[in-house]
Amino acid sequence: MTLRQEQVNTSPIVSDEVKYTTCYMCACRCGIKVHLTDGQVRYIEGNPDHPVNKGVLCAKGSSGIMQHLSPARLSAPLKRTGPRGSGEFEEISWEEAFDIATGWLGDIRKTDPKKLAFFTGRDQSQSLTAFWATKFGTLNHAAHGGFCSVNMAAAGLYTIGGSFWEFGEPDWELTRYFMMFGVAEDHDSNPIKTGLGRLKTRENTKYVSINPVRTGYSAIADEWIAIRPGTDGMFVMALIHELLKSQKVDLDFLVRYTNAPWLVRSEEGHPEDGLFLRDEHGNPLAWDKNQGQPVNALLPDIVPELSGVFEMPDGSKARPAFELMARRYLEQKYSAIEAAEITGIPAQTIRRIAAELAHAAFEQEIELDVAWTDWAGRKHDKMIGRPVSMHAMRGISAHSNGFHTCRAIHLLQMLLGSIDCPGGFRYKAPFPRPCPPGPKPTGKPGQVNAGEPMPGPPLGFINGPEDLLVNEDGSPCRIDKGFSWEHPFSAHGLMHMVIHNAWAADPYPVDTLFLYMANMAWNSSMNSQGTMEMLTDIDETTGEYRIPHIIYSDAYASEMVSYADLVLPDTTYLERWDCVSLLDRPISTAHGPADSIRQPVVQPDRDVRPFQDVLIELGARLGLPAFSNEDGSAAWPGGYSDYLVNHERMPGIGPLAGWRGADGDQHGKGDPNPAQLDRYIENGCFWKHDLPESQQYYKHANKDYLEFSHSMGFIPSSDQIVMQLYSEPLQRFQLAARGHGSVQPPEELRERIGKFFDPLPIWYQPIEESMVPLDEYPIHAITQRPAAMYHSWGSQNAWLRQIHGYNRLCMHRDLARELGVADDDWVHVESHHGKIKAQVRTMTGCEKNTVWTWNAIGKRRGAWNLEDDAAEGEKGFLLNHLISELLPIDDDGKKRRMSNSDPVTGQAAWFDLRVRISKAEAGEQVSEPQFEPIRPVPGVQKRPKILRFGEQFLPKGSWRRKDQS
Ligand code: SF4
Repeated sequence: MTLRQEQVNTSPIVSDEVKYTTCYMCACRCGIKVHLTDGQVRYIEGNPDHPVNKGVLCAKGSSGIMQHLSPARLSAPLKRTGPRGSGEFEEISWEEAFDIATGWLGDIRKTDPKKLAFFTGRDQSQSLTAFWATKFGTLNHAAHGGFCSVNMAAAGLYTIGGSFWEFGEPDWELTRYFMMFGVAEDHDSNPIKTGLGRLKTRENTKYVSINPVRTGYSAIADEWIAIRPGTDGMFVMALIHELLKSQKVDLDFLVRYTNAPWLVRSEEGHPEDGLFLRDEHGNPLAWDKNQGQPVNALLPDIVPELSGVFEMPDGSKARPAFELMARRYLEQKYSAIEAAEITGIPAQTIRRIAAELAHAAFEQEIELDVAWTDWAGRKHDKMIGRPVSMHAMRGISAHSNGFHTCRAIHLLQMLLGSIDCPGGFRYKAPFPRPCPPGPKPTGKPGQVNAGEPMPGPPLGFINGPEDLLVNEDGSPCRIDKGFSWEHPFSAHGLMHMVIHNAWAADPYPVDTLFLYMANMAWNSSMNSQGTMEMLTDIDETTGEYRIPHIIYSDAYASEMVSYADLVLPDTTYLERWDCVSLLDRPISTAHGPADSIRQPVVQPDRDVRPFQDVLIELGARLGLPAFSNEDGSAAWPGGYSDYLVNHERMPGIGPLAGWRGADGDQHGKGDPNPAQLDRYIENGCFWKHDLPESQQYYKHANKDYLEFSHSMGFIPSSDQIVMQLYSEPLQRFQLAARGHGSVQPPEELRERIGKFFDPLPIWYQPIEESMVPLDEYPIHAITQRPAAMYHSWGSQNAWLRQIHGYNRLCMHRDLARELGVADDDWVHVESHHGKIKAQVRTMTGCEKNTVWTWNAIGKRRGAWNLEDDAAEGEKGFLLNHLISELLPIDDDGKKRRMSNSDPVTGQAAWFDLRVRISKAEAGEQVSEPQFEPIRPVPGVQKRPKILRFGEQFLPKGSWRRKDQS
């Protein structure tokens, strides 16, 4: 008898054509090869030559076929015909869709451009969308970073001129001690998986995961530390305390590469107390030991003091930043014993980790025989490495104390001397960039005018109160209150506040909310139910919706589609041109800069258009500068692919860095090359430049690298990039809170600014947690992302739904025992804001007082064209219903409720959530809350009971199961 498996051909020829492009099943941007048979997608594999994934493809990536074929795909532009939320639409032509959109947007632009709020979700064309908003003239633009991880990005950019993920990565080949903070499985997915694989196959390495939940990456850690949510900052500061106490810090690194020696004015009450002393040219000063006087701290070969009080010739007094830092963290309140109380990590564990870090950094030093030249022209014949590296992500970021925690992690890296050295954390081009970073945001009074573009981009980086986007009375200029006294360093805006503020007309009403790929009627909002109500709320004075117009573009029938007035259907990622640009969030590695494109591997079979084409066309029809010519014709008649090749943001610099110049022989800077996209396609749809050995490390101070970076247009000059252990921009806000300076905070925010703006990292109890009675809400509740799903997208995917069809509330067995619940029981979970019902799963791999669930698996019934009784809607649930976008009401109820965000950056603080849990009757075994099922919108496929893929490729008469005949 022949066994069936013997008949299986393990290497069948699956296609008659292969096209390269870039995956978009999550944000990692891996290179893929799409196999086609008769022009149809047959199979997806990883591109082995690609710098991001080197051939590795994850479950999501290979399931891209089912995303491309999803029954939830929209198929034509839609105009709302029933009430918002009803799902009643009619199909319209693109011409009518453009007429409606340009009618609304044209009126706004002619009268008051800020009445357009244009926000995008997880799109990868933010350099285009921000450029479009600038030319439209609205300051009310951002992507989803404020909801995601702006704390990580902003803290890194203000501290070390880079950050994690797109900004940098561990030196996977050489690191010996790797610490990962708060990372779930969705970010930097394949690179981390392959990196961890490489790390764990080497001898004498250790991987420590600090995370309240042990899933995914944490599951394979050599040591898992079950920290209490929101306390990572205190843990890191206790490590710093231990390192300082045992004098295990890299003073050479601090002197050479950081502002540790810079002199900080120490004169209480002085209007410049806490700012750096500077010479007449604006250079910071240090006290030179040899000369016994203050000198320009940026000069090479000075021997600066790191401690002491120094009197300047004009009588002013100052201390080096290092001393201020060391004094702070040597305080008893940062000791291991005190930190143990807060973090739940035993003091001996904290001390041991500190000792292990010091041992790896200083006893296992790496020397590479690679010559390099530093910024001052000094030659070095070796590269010295401290093989300790770190990575952190949303678990740190999504707390109201996340900015300072991220800064603390970077401070720890600096003290260990493990930034951009062999074995340490490594920058990815275009980083490092100068810190504090630039450019500044635009949108001050006078910069937003009817019929005009803004003079600069809506998002940016501020340096002090004078850069805020506020009116004369201190009130916010932006609809999300970004860059205001409420959230001054909000480099990515506050997407999570847009709908609330627009609904409340606070600080003013908007006319049109224009969203792209942002599922804000469900999982991309806090307070999802309230958000749906705001989207449908009628203004009694006008009889119109409080947010009069909503335009939404998406490829799929997400929850948000039902709330739009006009739906612009997007293509799938396999049907479009796209660009992963160095102007945006590129695919560079530590080995060199890189970017990539997507090409249409198949043509749409529906009346849909790529959003980027639509945006460019809208820009032309509205007559926006840069999108239209003087004669009114379109500047980019060929759409996004035309723009990618021919647009120059600055002379010689465009969206793509590879094969520039008329002959395609220039990289970085060069004239547009009409054949540029062909060259990308020939090369597998990516471009990369490998840095020579001498430029691989110390990029912040490596002369050759800095000159290269400048020549590519990444940085404005090839000056050394000095890391900011002590942050002067933050101190400027501290001074404002004390009454100094011409731009002053409103009185009701003065105390808040004074409390949260500290030039050195601080830890404070997460704000929501500090405002709710902890005896009533004793349990932390957080979400994690699974490796097999990317936000809400995955649940329409027939293959991925089989992995995560619904989510459970996971809790430690000891907590379950205390609560009197067991596996499969149903519970009520209540916060100060709301109540849900969910089904329990017990485990031991989580902090005892923390419950968690997979995010965005739960769906509103009927959304994503799922059956009304799909598990995602019946059993799946969202924690978002428990999270308010506003902080709890104060005791007296008189104070204005602030947003539930980090006070520094505006990062949504959705991991600050505290809850109580009680056993519930199972009843119908359905999660709560439930809402009216969403009706299928016109043009989506009939909901199939069983999704089949591949039958069309089988030879006629092939075997198939009887029930499939
Ligand atoms: S990690 Fe993300 S980009 Fe890479 S293959 Fe998986 S889904 Fe695609």
